[in-house]
Amino acid sequence: MSGNQRGLVIVYTGDGKGKSTAAFGLVVRALGYGWRVAVLQFVKGTWRTGEERGFAKFGGNLVLRKLGVGFVTWHPKKSFEEHVEAARKAWEEAKRAVLSDEFDLVVLDELNNATRFGLIPVEEVLWLITNKPRRLHLVLTGRGADERVIEAADLVTEMKMVKHPFEHGEWARAGIDY
Ligand code: ATP
Ligand code: MG
Repeated sequence: MSGNQRGLVIVYTGDGKGKSTAAFGLVVRALGYGWRVAVLQFVKGTWRTGEERGFAKFGGNLVLRKLGVGFVTWHPKKSFEEHVEAARKAWEEAKRAVLSDEFDLVVLDELNNATRFGLIPVEEVLWLITNKPRRLHLVLTGRGADERVIEAADLVTEMKMVKHPFEHGEWARAGIDY
């Protein structure tokens, strides 16, 4: 348990690799102290990722949910309204997890993207930051975090892209990228 201390709002943003993996690193630490942790991923999520396989071995203190939010740019055949509807359901689930007070750490992975594409209003995110349980540590990842979210957070790290093999047309690697 994180005790009586105030939980932090942590944002990992920027265009360099490492935002989600930094959040997963915190998850491992938190589990080490017996904290209860939820990872909610705002992703379309068709394939089974390494984090899903890995976290499955950590036991009952960890909940991982892929919330099936597609991004406008990736699914041109779906209407904007369909994306908004999926995001709205995902957001309701994220709010339930945060407000339930069952967790010491909640990661909303890729939430910043859903906000950036206009799928979830930034006002909603700011509301949740203000109304989260005091002790809860809340981590938000994804490129292009809104300025107001950055303002409201306690700890913000911007990953900077210096080099990435994708630049040379290399494919994503299991165990490294997913
Ligand atoms: P990771 O999950 O590896 O920590 P991330 O959360 O920082 O990455 P995302 O924007 O969520 O980055 O991107 C998801 C995927 O895109 C990952 O497979 C990641 O390796 C890859 N990626 C991240 N940054 C870059 C980049 N600058 N150029 C190309 N691909 C990237
Ligand atoms: Mg990510």
